[in-house]
Amino acid sequence: MAQRVQGTEDLYGGYMRAWQRMQDVAREVFGVYGFNMIETPAIEQVATFVHGIGESTDVVRKEMFRVFSGALVESLLAKGSEQGLKAKQRLALRPEGTAGVVRAAVQNNLVPQGSAPAKLWYAGPMFRGERPQKGRLRQFHQVGVEWLGASDPASDAECIVMLMQFFERLGFAADSLRLVINSMGDGACRPAYREQVRSFILDHASQMCDDCLERAELNPLRAFDCKNPHCREVMRDAPLAPDHLCDECASHYAQVKRYLDEAGVRYEEDPTLVRGLDYYTRTVFEVEVEGAGVGAIGGGGRYDGLMELEGGKPTPGLGFAVGFERIVLALQAQGVDLGAAEERCVYVACTPDVRASVFGTVLALRNAGVRTECDCQGRSLKSQFKQADKVGACLCVVLGTDEVAAGKAALRDMRSHEQEQVDLADLPSVVAQRM
Ligand code: AMP
Repeated sequence: MAQRVQGTEDLYGGYMRAWQRMQDVAREVFGVYGFNMIETPAIEQVATFVHGIGESTDVVRKEMFRVFSGALVESLLAKGSEQGLKAKQRLALRPEGTAGVVRAAVQNNLVPQGSAPAKLWYAGPMFRGERPQKGRLRQFHQVGVEWLGASDPASDAECIVMLMQFFERLGFAADSLRLVINSMGDGACRPAYREQVRSFILDHASQMCDDCLERAELNPLRAFDCKNPHCREVMRDAPLAPDHLCDECASHYAQVKRYLDEAGVRYEEDPTLVRGLDYYTRTVFEVEVEGAGVGAIGGGGRYDGLMELEGGKPTPGLGFAVGFERIVLALQAQGVDLGAAEERCVYVACTPDVRASVFGTVLALRNAGVRTECDCQGRSLKSQFKQADKVGACLCVVLGTDEVAAGKAALRDMRSHEQEQVDLADLPSVVAQRM
């Protein structure tokens, strides 16, 4: 039997309904804030991710799935190296959504100078070559938002408020959500802060792991995320970003917090929160669910330099992404089944002698917009009733020789078991009303 790739999942039944429900909630909640949906390709040039996410990040260095056409693989194997490949031949499956959406905004000029910001949301699969485990997949699904052209601290707060409303609409108990925020500074203050963290790590080199020593050169702030207990102990005394913000960044951060207070959003400040991707500036945030044990269910922040890194004009921006699979797990832990509600449907059951005339009845019901099921396997009337129960029909239409001859149908309510006679001509409108 063919096997699915490790770290990937098939979405069907309740799981598929959960994914659709999440997108419906996103459309409703984000729509109120003026966001429109965008879909960009799952495959982009490697350069798009290198420019945006950063050459030195784990995502780009270790986790990105690279894509080569069959012909190219042969020539690469013969040459033994990627040297000489053109940018358009160096492709990857997207590990996250932001870089592609920002590339699309630049390429399609979605934020012309002087115009209103572009407010975009997306939903789709992302790919990372991580070691699969609970809540960590190689193909997973994200819903995300990108707000391009917004610099005001109110937009950071609005984005966070919208994210928390989204989680609550999905069914999370509000007091189970832990929102953590921080400010990472910008091009004016971060380089000096980064250098301080680098020096701090090198000063404590004998107590740090090899990964952190490598991070000191490539991406020192990532040492705050190291899982090694010795490194964590050392990093407790490291310089903290909020203590090293320039005046503009400090004022921006203070205003974001004031707006969050005004909106009544509970948050914790974590001065060690550094997101894994290089593009973040100023505000960053993450959301966890108490007791769910799946890690962050979503996170994001401001990325004022990203449009420029992708070849556009300097344009501020911010956004977030949430992970579908972790949200489903965390909701399950709270007893919420995101994919529970099945579509209501009607089942048309009939005796074999009138099967041919039932075709038109089923068609008329469907034309009236009613989700309709009927037997297509030559089952007995008794097993058709069982089938109606199985598919969760709320109404059952029963047709036999007598009913068809009289131009009538028996309409049975599957819950109360009450039955009535309805004129066949009126059936679609009566059923549509009952649904
Ligand atoms: P990130 O861009 O890494 O912050 O990811 C945003 C959200 O996507 C995270 O908070 C997770 O919920 C989810 N996510 C990230 N990586 C994975 C993965 N490998 N498997 C499942 N969900 C993921």
